[in-house]
Amino acid sequence: MLNEKMLSLGKNRSKIRDLFEYGKVLKEQGKTVCDFTLGNPSVKTPEKVTQILIDGLEKADVHAYTQAQGSKLSRQNIANDLNKKGNAKFCADGVILTCGAAASLCGVFKAITSSNLDEIVVLAPYFPEYKVFIESAGAKQVTVGFTQDFSPDFSALEKAISKNTKAIVINNPNNPSGKVYDENDVLTLCKILNKKSAEIGRPIYLISDEPYREIVFGKTTLPFIPDFYKNTIICYSYSKSLSLPGERIGYVAIPNEICSFIDLYAGILGSLRAVGYVCAPSLFQYMIENFDGNYSDFSIYENNLNNLITTLKSLNFTCNEPKGAFYLMIKAPDGDGEKLSETAKELGLLIVPADSFGAKGWARIATCVSEKTVQESKPLFEKLAKAYNLI
Ligand code: PLP
Repeated sequence: MLNEKMLSLGKNRSKIRDLFEYGKVLKEQGKTVCDFTLGNPSVKTPEKVTQILIDGLEKADVHAYTQAQGSKLSRQNIANDLNKKGNAKFCADGVILTCGAAASLCGVFKAITSSNLDEIVVLAPYFPEYKVFIESAGAKQVTVGFTQDFSPDFSALEKAISKNTKAIVINNPNNPSGKVYDENDVLTLCKILNKKSAEIGRPIYLISDEPYREIVFGKTTLPFIPDFYKNTIICYSYSKSLSLPGERIGYVAIPNEICSFIDLYAGILGSLRAVGYVCAPSLFQYMIENFDGNYSDFSIYENNLNNLITTLKSLNFTCNEPKGAFYLMIKAPDGDGEKLSETAKELGLLIVPADSFGAKGWARIATCVSEKTVQESKPLFEKLAKAYNLI
């Protein structure tokens, strides 16, 4: 007898993957399709990073097992990098190398929850895999809605926190909205967390899921969350910032001042061990040991975003104006995001309905595509606008 829950997770792919696979088949058949589904970066990995990887390939010791939590040198380099971002202090022994932010999140959720009454609060719109990870850890996701411009609904958040709340997840910049929560948002969030932690009598952790940390546009600045809240657990990934999503490399980092530093670190390491996540890919640890801090060039994402916003607005669609990440939200004219995605699909335009992101009535456009795809999509968006009588 199989585990029914796992069977169902394996059989029912996410909507994003479903559409992506559909587009792949069409492309293999030589059909033109504008695929805006997956957050697969289109810009190149920086040349220096590629060179480090090539060098590493030739070194036999690079391919050996490392410490379960990752090599000391890679962890030290990450701590040094985080120490430059603000006042919060990090050390190598507060960092664990992982197979991407997904593994980081799974490890953290499992480590900080122990009963099916335990709750993790998630701010909508959110990365749909959170629910899978939280429920697989045996806990419950509590979702908090958003207000205009995809800002968190703070009064709903106050009400959502209970004595069972173990943590809140913040994803800044946000997938799927591209929203950047500013300093005021973070201050308000931390005020609520401090108040609620005092009421409950123990800290509520703030899990900062940061795969898009480096991707912000114009003069936008990103608050460094551990400077605002000492009980922050960072879950990071190099997937987007170095265009390495298939290589599965990221980390968990906790600041020195966090409550229960030693036990929390051991608990996260233990929960990763329990599912076989030890010793993240060693070639990529070697890359981190030698990484100079220069990330991919994200300017193409900003251009794509601006081009698409101009196109959509000229066609009388409603969309948001993201300040970070590489996603854009388009509103379904009749409030039905699923139908919008289906209608677009018929035209060879693949966009993801945002219902599973907790944003009913919207669809997500991943703008991490080539400029050619953006150009080719314009007549298709025009047809979509006509299908809705917008023009
Ligand atoms: N968190 C968010 C918000 C994401 O968008 C993603 C991937 O798209 C992840 C976590 C998982 O990142 P990774 O693929 O590096 O594990």
